[in-house]
Amino acid sequence: MKKRILLYVFLFLAIGVSAQNFTKSEKDLIQSGDTKAMLKVIQITEEKELKILKSVSADIDPKDKLLPLLAERMYLAMRDPANPGIGIAAPQVGINRNVIWVQRFDKEGEPFELYLNPKIVWSSALLRKGMEGCLSIPDISGNVLRNYTIKLAYQDKNGKQQEEIIEGFTAVIFQHETDHLKGILFTDRMKEQEKLEVSPVSNEINLFIEKRLKRQ
Ligand SMILES: [Zn+2]
Repeated sequence: MKKRILLYVFLFLAIGVSAQNFTKSEKDLIQSGDTKAMLKVIQITEEKELKILKSVSADIDPKDKLLPLLAERMYLAMRDPANPGIGIAAPQVGINRNVIWVQRFDKEGEPFELYLNPKIVWSSALLRKGMEGCLSIPDISGNVLRNYTIKLAYQDKNGKQQEEIIEGFTAVIFQHETDHLKGILFTDRMKEQEKLEVSPVSNEINLFIEKRLKRQ
């Protein structure tokens, strides 16, 4: 009985810690300046901003009252005509929270969709290589290997837990954006992959098999 009570206390604490509301300074930033305008996209070239981009983000309570405003101002930042992108993560506007926008190239009309507390829970050994850039990294693009298929667990804007299998280019965007939530930039992946052992599937397409096990 005592054990069970302890377990409930632990679960309560775990849930409480994993999805908190915005802090005072986060609220101030979300509501700063013209609330109808985009939030500034921070850059790796500024030391203070790089620190935020390299930090691990925390989950957010999907019912937080300021979440719709953060989402709207992130969307505007991603669609800034001066520097438009196809995805954005909350750390890129200075908020270390697990919130991303991704353009769904795998859906009719290629809509932009919001994902809360996204986690990649499975990824294929099959990899694809493709060019990436980042709104927070000026003037750099490069080839990155990404898992061809992923399974994503997340909460939708109503707080409902969802799971989905995603592949191809759209899966690349999800991997780029969820990496931001872990403080990982695509340039970090490029460096890390210099030593990665992969076997090409063919000479004509950019697909590779990651060496994980002796037999697969
Ligand atoms: Zn990026």
